[in-house]
Amino acid sequence: AKRSGKDRIVAYSPGMSLAELQDGVLREALRLAIADRVVRLHYQPIVELETGRVSGLEALARWRHDGVDIPPDVFIPLAERSGFMTVLTADLLAAACTRLAGWTRGRTEPLSVHVNVAPSQLIAPGFVDTVAELVRAHRLPAGGLVLEITESGIFADLDAARRTVTELRGLGVGVSLDDFGVGYSSLAQLNAMPLDSVKIDRSFLAAVDTDRRQATFLHAVLRLAEEIGLPVVAEGVERPAQLTLLRALGCRHAQGYLLGRPVDAAEVPALLAGIAVP
Ligand code: C2E
Ligand code: CA
Ligand code: CA
Ligand code: CA
Repeated sequence: AKRSGKDRIVAYSPGMSLAELQDGVLREALRLAIADRVVRLHYQPIVELETGRVSGLEALARWRHDGVDIPPDVFIPLAERSGFMTVLTADLLAAACTRLAGWTRGRTEPLSVHVNVAPSQLIAPGFVDTVAELVRAHRLPAGGLVLEITESGIFADLDAARRTVTELRGLGVGVSLDDFGVGYSSLAQLNAMPLDSVKIDRSFLAAVDTDRRQATFLHAVLRLAEEIGLPVVAEGVERPAQLTLLRALGCRHAQGYLLGRPVDAAEVPALLAGIAVP
């Protein structure tokens, strides 16, 4: 019986109907899951390529419902549509800051925890206050908390986003642009945003080891980021050849299944003690 229970652990498949996704049952289940803190964070290492050390962790939301892992690509948009995002974001941020404070204690090298912030939250009233309170309560070191925002978050209201980002940086909170390269940012607009880093979307890395044009393109993106003084984290490193190329191109930080999958918080201390680069 246990076994057949386990067999039910299936991933979301594109064959599921939209109706199934959108129905009130899932929404209600999500509401309860958020209230009961069943939505949790896993943490994926961000590795400094030169040393092989874990320099950061990206917090990624996980929800197991009735034995099924519902992907965040499904339940985060559902939370957005349902008006749950403010509560969920506050809870996950608080959880991530508590973990960060614990992992940082007694550690000499800096460590950052990256938390994803949905576009609606970045400019929501009270967001900066929420973050400020967490930074104060946990006495987080500057750069310890990094918020990952997206281009759609920035361009929903450019002026408001710039103000918010500036305020966050004033608190010692880092701001990183997620999924860089997949959107439509003009360079001028990006340049006007006081970012700490950019994360290059994994679509840019997908074929760099087999497709010369992709490699050339990645090189150009890395050089551009360097020229405007933005550190880069390359996402989605799955194969050694991708890592070799990133190193050759001077990319300093990377993240991906090759370097470490997202893991439960309980596994993070062991991760921090080891060397992640193969
Ligand atoms: P993202 O922010 O771009 O996160 C990176 C995604 O890539 C994660 O998927 C991660 O598990 C996956 N990934 C990491 N390394 C590799 C790799 O080597 N290969 C491949 N194929 N994938 C890799 P995940 O956890 O399913 O999250 C999907 C998206 O859901 C995230 O994309 C983010 O946009 C959103 N999300 C996740 N957690 C949160 C959250 O707490 N808040 C908000 N607002 N959004 C979240
Ligand atoms: Ca992210
Ligand atoms: Ca990303
Ligand atoms: Ca993504």
